[in-house]
Amino acid sequence: MNNTIFTINKPANEKVYSYAEGSPERAEIKEELDRQASGEIEIPLIIGGREIRTGNTGKVVMPCNHRHVLATYHKAGEKEVKDAIDAAMRAREKWAVLSWVERASISLKAADLIAEKYRYVINAATMLGQGKNVYQAEIDAAVETVDFLRFNAWFASQIYSGQPSSTSEQMNRIEYRPLEGFVFTVSPFNFTAIASNLNMSVALMGNVSVWKPATTSLLSSYYLMKIYREAGLPDGVINFIPGRGAMIGEFVLAHPGFSGMHFTGSNATFNSLWKKVANNLSIYRNYPRLVGETGGKDFIFVHKSADPGEVATAIVRGAFEYQGQKCSAASRAYIPESMWSVVWGTLESMISNIKVGDVMDNSNFINAVIDEKSFDNIMDYIEIARKSDSAEIVAGGIGDKTKGYYIQPTVILTEDPEFLTMREEIFGPVMTVYVYPDRDYEKTLNICNETSPYALTGAVFSRDRYAFVTACRILRYAAGNFYINDKPTGAVVGLQPFGGARASGTNDKAGGPLNLIRWVSPRTIKETFLPATDFRYPFMD
Ligand code: NAD
Repeated sequence: MNNTIFTINKPANEKVYSYAEGSPERAEIKEELDRQASGEIEIPLIIGGREIRTGNTGKVVMPCNHRHVLATYHKAGEKEVKDAIDAAMRAREKWAVLSWVERASISLKAADLIAEKYRYVINAATMLGQGKNVYQAEIDAAVETVDFLRFNAWFASQIYSGQPSSTSEQMNRIEYRPLEGFVFTVSPFNFTAIASNLNMSVALMGNVSVWKPATTSLLSSYYLMKIYREAGLPDGVINFIPGRGAMIGEFVLAHPGFSGMHFTGSNATFNSLWKKVANNLSIYRNYPRLVGETGGKDFIFVHKSADPGEVATAIVRGAFEYQGQKCSAASRAYIPESMWSVVWGTLESMISNIKVGDVMDNSNFINAVIDEKSFDNIMDYIEIARKSDSAEIVAGGIGDKTKGYYIQPTVILTEDPEFLTMREEIFGPVMTVYVYPDRDYEKTLNICNETSPYALTGAVFSRDRYAFVTACRILRYAAGNFYINDKPTGAVVGLQPFGGARASGTNDKAGGPLNLIRWVSPRTIKETFLPATDFRYPFMD
């Protein structure tokens, strides 16, 4: 029986463990890292609850030591993609009509499993497979994943309770139907929490998904899938199909039941998928919901009133944590002439204290970038800066891919605010600085607003409230997540719903109710108590 109006209490954000020397979590994670690093697992596809081994395999390796194989994974072929869609559509019949309370319960149980039983499993998999140090893994794979699962259950309860007014003659209701079909979920390599949320947010609202995980984060994605199943997610609600993105995308987007895409990744991939959807529009039963969070060219803009030490710290953390591979990572900075030498002095000394190396060694602040393709791409940008007359590499600029894909934290100084590395997403530990004349504050804000096609995150440092308000006005559309006197990374679920506009995506704000709204197709139901029996109106007499 479901005769309840059920409420979920507002959750608290999950506690972040420190992993300080001597803490219990430090010992636990070490043990789990050793366990995962000493074996090699097999990652099957999971379709309709069944593990499928296609025999067409690939390897999952450590970015910090690319000869070290962590897993062998099976790749989907066309048959498996079709099977995954069929399994999702079959599962939909029961899942879509299940009370939302039952679905929320699975989400909350998955959160508890990750917070307690599997915290170190998911963190270690993220550290080894995606090259995150223990703190970066903790705030992503454990904490943010748990927050998404708990907060979304609460947001969902608020959405479902939103109902229209009724009168004494009629009763009105809104039924929040899941989409009529399946959702294609496509996850990026860089956040375990995003991979989880792309699927579990749509499932929470009653949808089923066909999930194409990123090949370079398969280890943590596979563990997530196993945890959902242990939490009681029924067979076929999420179907896990690693493989070649282009083939899978082609096939999935040509199915009439395709009803939505929940994507996070690069702008180029999202654009190509959107074009395919547009070409196939006549095939679909519904206009598909397209939700995509893509790249960024995130800025730190400094007013002359700011504190130089705060600015230098924000640059180091904002640009170099997780090797600059956060969509929100700061990668361009605008600093007033009068302050540059002080900021640079502090920045240079901080950078000289940064160690780059393996995630197993906690003294390393920076670890390896994700793979060789990414390493080469970042180094190409650095080479362009090295050869340019309008830029100078003032820190780093060195990479070594012999053992792991390591790149030293790099600062490029340019006198051209439109220089390539001020415009394009690099996705590595590279910060480009443009030093502007103090008197050109507003002019430079306008340049910042116009330089890059992206608009994901940005930060303004200022102790002058008027200067801040000016920045806020000129940069109104330059960032979907805007920070005052803070680095532009580290959005927290429930506190700073996340997403950007322009080329950075559809700005549907993961970590808030706006995102969940996209996964329902509401039906309004009006019931009239005493229906009319005469077609004539009084005005006709
Ligand atoms: P990517 O675009 O290379 O890959 C994303 C996913 O798309 C992967 O699973 C990949 O296999 C798949 N894919 C690639 N081509 C495909 C195709 N033709 N059809 C179907 N699927 C395909 O991105 P990435 O390197 O994994 O992630 C980094 C990018 O993600 C950066 O641009 C970053 O800014 C962005 N990102 C954005 C956010 C955000 O919230 N805005 C968050 C994280 C990452």
